[in-house]
Amino acid sequence: MAPLTGLQIQKLLPKTNCKECGSNTCLAFAMKLAAKKAELSECPYVSDEAKAILGAAAEPPVRTVTIGVGDGACSMGGETVMFRHEKTFVNRTAIGIALDDAMDLAELDRRIAEVKAYRLERVGEVLLVDAVSVEAKSGSAEKYVEVLRHVANAWDRAIIARASDAALLRTAAETLKERRPLLASATTDTLDAVRDAATANGAAMAVTADNLDAIAAMTEQLRAADFRDAVIELRAGSLCEQFASNTIVRRGALKAGLKSLGYPTLRYVNTGNAIDDAVEAGIEIAKYGGIVVLPEFDPAMFVSLLTLRQNIFTDPQKPIQVEPKVYAIGAPNENSPTFVTTNFSLTYFIVSGEIENSGLSAWLLVPECEGMSVLAAWAAGKFGGAKIAAAAKELGLESQTACRKLVIPGYVSQISGELEEALPGWKIIVGPQEAGDIESFIKNVLAA
Ligand code: SF4
Repeated sequence: MAPLTGLQIQKLLPKTNCKECGSNTCLAFAMKLAAKKAELSECPYVSDEAKAILGAAAEPPVRTVTIGVGDGACSMGGETVMFRHEKTFVNRTAIGIALDDAMDLAELDRRIAEVKAYRLERVGEVLLVDAVSVEAKSGSAEKYVEVLRHVANAWDRAIIARASDAALLRTAAETLKERRPLLASATTDTLDAVRDAATANGAAMAVTADNLDAIAAMTEQLRAADFRDAVIELRAGSLCEQFASNTIVRRGALKAGLKSLGYPTLRYVNTGNAIDDAVEAGIEIAKYGGIVVLPEFDPAMFVSLLTLRQNIFTDPQKPIQVEPKVYAIGAPNENSPTFVTTNFSLTYFIVSGEIENSGLSAWLLVPECEGMSVLAAWAAGKFGGAKIAAAAKELGLESQTACRKLVIPGYVSQISGELEEALPGWKIIVGPQEAGDIESFIKNVLAA
């Protein structure tokens, strides 16, 4: 269905202009809905008939598909924009590791334990591997079931069951019925059988073919059968083809309104070379991949991929923030000095890390600055002397330390006079401009 215009939407609204949705008129609300800047649920008076029509029109152009259950579930798709500066991307590219049933159980255990234990903590967020893919390679249905059960016991996040045989995918769907797996992948010949298995067992399914036309024909068939939890598996090609096919699928769904391409994508990466694998996985993360599966787990590669992913999928309109409070760095006591910085996560983690690296135990006062960096917060009037003094009082700084030394960032040296007036009895010390100079500042200036 082509997107409805504001005027078309307005015809379906109550037209009472009651303002309860926060817009002055139903037309203004309709315009916001058309621009996807409001939710239909914000109007309490929409009729069921209008909800059905508008709900279908408001479906995201890329379907959201969730695999796994509980805390281990991961969602893909749901995207509404081509570029993150337009609006936030909704679901991060999931990253998985490939396993298969030709591995012995001890090797499977070793690989799963390694992946499960891996966690990257970055700017206050814990980043994990999302999924494992278990491929049927042994040729034995019994062995495949045994391995799937073993993996399901050892791994509580999402599972992809991969087989070329529809009967094996049905077996996998039945074995993992409680885990909502992704069945990968149906071809034109196996489409109906895999769909039946997925439907009967509450699984999602991927479809694949050599070209996008054939894939689109398969998703159309699934749609006609009212099966929506589909994923498009794009097969390996050159980097250029990978980039092009990912972009065509996203553009087709968003710009051309092609429902047949409006699904998240799956791609297995296996170039035989770790660097090339990292490049291909990086392209998936940067350009529209729903889930990417790597052949091996390599912690060094995952630091890069998860960091890239975090940078792309954070909301550019919402700075990542830490809670405003007085943080203890090391084991400070009543004689420890205090540093102050803003609650922009990146700033907080860099400053706290540099103080920690110096070996000094100190307090770190972090006022509410709406997640802005030091200069931006100062320019916005959120990091001046009066604001910092008020935060020191509200957050109970004076009850934690008798030492009255407060180090401010060098970039806002101009607030030192104002701060001295607002915090009588405190010695305001201008620290370095760059966090990288904190350690030498502590050794050469503060300790002197
Ligand atoms: S709440 Fe509904 S009826 Fe009231 S102004 Fe908004 S759209 Fe119109």
